[in-house]
Amino acid sequence: MDFKGQVVIVTGGARGIGKAICEAFAKRGANIAVVDLMDEEAVKTADELKALGVESISIKCDVSKSEDVKEMFNTVVEKLGGVDILVNNAGITRDTLVLRMKEEEWDAVIDVNLKSAFLCSKEALKLMAKKRFGRIINISSIVAFTGNPGQVNYSASKAALLGLTKTIAKEYASRGITCNAVAPGFITTAMTEALPDNIKEEMLKNIPLRRFGSPEDVANAVVFLASTEAGYITGQVIHVNGGMYM
Ligand code: NDP
Repeated sequence: MDFKGQVVIVTGGARGIGKAICEAFAKRGANIAVVDLMDEEAVKTADELKALGVESISIKCDVSKSEDVKEMFNTVVEKLGGVDILVNNAGITRDTLVLRMKEEEWDAVIDVNLKSAFLCSKEALKLMAKKRFGRIINISSIVAFTGNPGQVNYSASKAALLGLTKTIAKEYASRGITCNAVAPGFITTAMTEALPDNIKEEMLKNIPLRRFGSPEDVANAVVFLASTEAGYITGQVIHVNGGMYM
């Protein structure tokens, strides 16, 4: 799979799964915009990608804010010349049981995990439709399918991303644009490090492949969906969960 000369935007690209996605594309020749709230970390990631011989820029952007997103796309077009692939990866958790959840916690998760994908896809589609080519990949989650106690906001946002994925797939198929989702299971990153060991041990028992996933496991699925080889796949979800949910 070769992405030489193509431009990829990865939201939440400074660390974790987003960083692995940036690296997987850069190793295959793509130029990358690392979009993140974390200024210093994003600069560091972009520098590491440059060392792989591709162009890479870091952009500080809150992807839940439409003005930030518009400005971010302008910067990408100006500095990298366009957008071929958008990976809506930025995500947060604000876990607690329904009755304890504050309205702000609900809104924050819906805004960062779901609204951001709408805002970024809208800007990307304007450019992709003109080119008659594009790939949008949304990072959902296993909990979109299973639900999870303490994650009513998170699981709702990740399930809604699937509706967004399928609708964009239908609206833009005729313009050569595909839109798919990846639903990771338990992946070892800062987001999951915070969980207590006894919860992690319990989860491991339910994973037939008997290991937690790595950010690279998710990145491999994303790169495939963005490739020429996946050109006849749209509106789909690839599960990357070691068999935890089938
Ligand atoms: P991390 O928390 O490690 O990384 C997420 C990145 O997104 C951070 O750099 C974060 O910056 C950034 N980000 C958060 N909010 C915004 C925002 N408003 N604008 C721009 N960037 C933002 O998470 P993971 O790598 O673990 O997760 C990546 C994606 O994968 C998420 O969508 C997550 O829901 C999903 N996922 C993860 C799973 C896992 O097991 N890890 C399982 C299933 C899905 P900052 O740190 O400054 O907030």
